[in-house]
Amino acid sequence: MPENSKNSLSKRIDPSPGRGRLIILSAPSGAGKSTLCQALRRRFPELAYSVSHTTRIPRKGEENGKDYYFITEAEFKKNIQQGKWAEWAEVHGHFYGTDAVFLDTHLSAGRFILLDIDVAGARQILEKYPDSITIFVMPPSLDVLRQRLEKRGTDTPEVIAKRLENAKAEIAQKNIYRHVIVNDALPEAIKQLTAIIQRYLNGPKSDSRPRDVKGETD
Ligand code: ADP
Ligand code: 5GP
Repeated sequence: MPENSKNSLSKRIDPSPGRGRLIILSAPSGAGKSTLCQALRRRFPELAYSVSHTTRIPRKGEENGKDYYFITEAEFKKNIQQGKWAEWAEVHGHFYGTDAVFLDTHLSAGRFILLDIDVAGARQILEKYPDSITIFVMPPSLDVLRQRLEKRGTDTPEVIAKRLENAKAEIAQKNIYRHVIVNDALPEAIKQLTAIIQRYLNGPKSDSRPRDVKGETD
């Protein structure tokens, strides 16, 4: 299956020698991004993980500094003014942002960094870091997405309805991503993601876009 190269916003740019790269993982809420990110962090301990800042309240089990930095809206807005975010977006009524210093520090140190951000954030990152590796995770269907959100049990019916509405808009933009995979059976999705990332970590250094990885669109 060839990669999604027609509309993808990822540019064919030779990565700077010795510099790291960003791996952007996006998906509609409930598609399994956090689950997949956890698996990838275990599989690739050498990847840095960009812990986002958010103004939403923690879900049960979420830890400050591990899952997110939970901050107030006032702090978030001050950081916008001070240019501290590499990107930020309002998602489902809350603010989310990526620390610019964290990215630049780790990129300069030659590390690959995993980012779990939404489509609006991905567009901003691609403006600043056009050689970013972009992966979109699809749910098998909107019905399955609803079931996963309901089963997760962390959101009210109103919030779930809002997330499903947003999912349609996000899925409509999936072709800006270089790679698109479907998170149906979890082990298979992990296998596909692992293959994509492993290929980038291995090189070839002069080609930012591996060509024959499973799980890509078009
Ligand atoms: P996201 O981070 O994208 O919002 P989560 O990782 O929290 O999504 O996953 C949403 C729910 O779906 C969780 O309860 C998770 O355990 C479950 N889930 C994730 N991937 C799969 C899968 N492949 N099959 C079935 N359930 C899944
Ligand atoms: P959740 O509240 O379910 O953890 O995340 C909601 C959405 O916000 C997800 O699509 C997630 O990818 C996105 N998100 C998380 N962190 C960031 C961030 O730092 N920036 C942007 N733009 N989106 C983020």
